[in-house]
Amino acid sequence: MTKNLNFFNTLSNKKEKFVPIKNNKIGMYVCGPTVYDFPHIGNARPLVVFDVLFRILKKIYGKNKVTYVRNITDIDDKIIESSKKNKKSVKELTETIAKSFHEDCKYLNCLSPTYEPKATEHIKEMIDMVTNLLQKKHAYENEKHVYFSVSSFKKYGRLSNKNPEQLIAGSRVEVSKYKKDPLDFILWKPSEENDPGWESPWGRGRPGWHLECSVMSEKFLGKKFDIHGGGLDLVFPHHENEIAQSCCANKTENFANYWLHNGFVTFDKEKMSKSIGNIVTINKLRENVNGQAVRLALLSSHYKQPLDWNEKLIKESQNTLNKWYSQFEKIESNELHDDILKPLLEDLNTPEYISKLHLLYNESSKGNKTSKVKFLTACKLIGLLEEDMNSWENFKKSKAKVDENFVNQKIKDRNNARKKGNYKLADIIRKELEDNGVIIDDKQDKTTWKYK
Ligand SMILES: [Zn+2]
Repeated sequence: MTKNLNFFNTLSNKKEKFVPIKNNKIGMYVCGPTVYDFPHIGNARPLVVFDVLFRILKKIYGKNKVTYVRNITDIDDKIIESSKKNKKSVKELTETIAKSFHEDCKYLNCLSPTYEPKATEHIKEMIDMVTNLLQKKHAYENEKHVYFSVSSFKKYGRLSNKNPEQLIAGSRVEVSKYKKDPLDFILWKPSEENDPGWESPWGRGRPGWHLECSVMSEKFLGKKFDIHGGGLDLVFPHHENEIAQSCCANKTENFANYWLHNGFVTFDKEKMSKSIGNIVTINKLRENVNGQAVRLALLSSHYKQPLDWNEKLIKESQNTLNKWYSQFEKIESNELHDDILKPLLEDLNTPEYISKLHLLYNESSKGNKTSKVKFLTACKLIGLLEEDMNSWENFKKSKAKVDENFVNQKIKDRNNARKKGNYKLADIIRKELEDNGVIIDDKQDKTTWKYK
């Protein structure tokens, strides 16, 4: 198996060959969800993209050689706000959302990360890092608030490829009377009496959001590790701040060597937002779309490109999987030729890989057994067609609005209409069946049907 893996590294702003720190111990950290509201399709993208990367790394370097860490942010201003709005305790809210998030991951057929640490379980380590940063004069305290002093870190802005002035101009930085410089960011802040809080040298309070990723990545992957991933919106300030905290606390030149960021997801060409009300949550999708179709749809664009989520995309993915499932059978093989794998090794080019899958499918459907094994192995590598044929069919059946008797009666009615030359009625019936989740196919004298 080739180890010629290349990534576009946000840090160097170019494509680079991936050279791990240690060949037998690859480390990857991906920023996980803030569990304040049900995750949406924009959150599903990094889940699936980095799951594919996790699978590829395991394939190349060995099953147990890759450590994948994805955190859960279970303390944050957004969580406190949402708990008040929904009249739920913070614990109840975060547990409900985290549970739903895990069901989403399962639905999308994502492997569990090696570790999934929670922020609230690492408060002590976060306090230690703040203390460390204060001692090294990279942070300052002001009335129970502790801020990171951005001017103390010369490389700040390196990931975004911008200098501090450009960063300030291009974003909304938090205004606060407690900080000395607009770019300084919070490490620790006081909690109101009824809000969650922990005792610290600076009074009862809670950590700033960025801190947990620095602390938890170090705990599970060490001071320096290979890959850090997340959505494009995290580059600044979140990832810049992670780098600043970790490099200053640990006195290291680098934090993660390769930074991978996935592009945004729009919905019908519009930005998804609460105020427009066009947010597609994953738990809603679970009700009527098979998770594999969502997975395939998410992989249909290159991860760095924007992805537009729409009905057509879901339909196309469903149709493709319907077709592909005709080749399904249980296989043992895990052998994949480098040539098939190639697009994935070139900065995870999933659209090109999917076109290869179409070609392999064509070969396989000609009845060649070797091609079939190749096709199925290649699908499995990116987490598709792992579910057996029955569950795929049963899902469609369970989502269809009509039963067999209804369908057979309608086909009878339609054939009668055709015999009488009433093609208009025949078309209406076909459309009616389609709207109810059934597709029909006329072959010679026989009409067959299936759930779509
Ligand atoms: Zn993070």
